[in-house]
Amino acid sequence: MTESRNPVVIAHRGASGYLPEHTLPGKALAHGMGADFLEQDVVASSDGQLVVFHDLHLDQLTDVARQFPGRGRPDGRYYCIDFSLKELRTLTVTERQRKDGSGPRFPARFPAKTGSFRIHTLEEELDLIQGLNRSTGRRAGVYAEIKAPGWHTRHQFGLGDRLLETLQAFGYRTTADGFFVQCFCAEELRRVRARFGGDVPLIQLLDETADVSREALAAVTGYAQGIGPPISLAWPDRGLVSRARESELLIHPYTFRADELPAGFGTFTELLASFIDVLEVDGLFTDFPDLVIAHIRKRG
Ligand code: CA
Repeated sequence: MTESRNPVVIAHRGASGYLPEHTLPGKALAHGMGADFLEQDVVASSDGQLVVFHDLHLDQLTDVARQFPGRGRPDGRYYCIDFSLKELRTLTVTERQRKDGSGPRFPARFPAKTGSFRIHTLEEELDLIQGLNRSTGRRAGVYAEIKAPGWHTRHQFGLGDRLLETLQAFGYRTTADGFFVQCFCAEELRRVRARFGGDVPLIQLLDETADVSREALAAVTGYAQGIGPPISLAWPDRGLVSRARESELLIHPYTFRADELPAGFGTFTELLASFIDVLEVDGLFTDFPDLVIAHIRKRG
């Protein structure tokens, strides 16, 4: 194989270790830290706007229950797609709360209920990134995820097509334009490939239960440029990285968090050394882009 190259640093939902996820300040911070790519999770509003938000529902990240009592579904949850963009913009975004309401998911992060952060559209985020690329002279790429495409289709919304069309309108068409499109759904990625062509760089996200046999990876090669496995799939089964290489697939594991180490790792440095220096992955999704960049710089 070729000599080792530095991995790309993907700011997972922005610099989310420091500011609430998927907020424009969190994205600006990640850009300033030098992240190679900024991640967008994309969902739809009731009036067909693309918004950057991780969950299908709003309740763990916003004050929706207080602002719109009675607008939840029978399951007690408030869904993004049940609210117009205008309504979504009135919500305050906070640090992620635990599902059971027992407090913040990451207690040491940005203080919950502090600041006035808002939901924004994909277009607004692309404007921010391109503006910063211009003003800083350093290009950060876009790494957008089609969230729950089947669920959006059942709500009469073609999320994947709209996302790709929006990216194209901003000049993101081929690998050279500095972007990736990611999705957990293989069927959706195949559909996107057929519709938008082989130049669109696609990443097949994998969950803990995914088949990562040689045969399964060979199938992914037919429609995607890389895989995004969880840390647990790539380690300690070191075979996945070499199988990905054999299949000529990029490997971008998720999610590297200094405040939530996977079992078997004593420090964040140890975790980064395993994946960057030993496994030599092609990229990493991280909540702490500055720490990953510092590790890579020290390595030379
Ligand atoms: Ca994501």
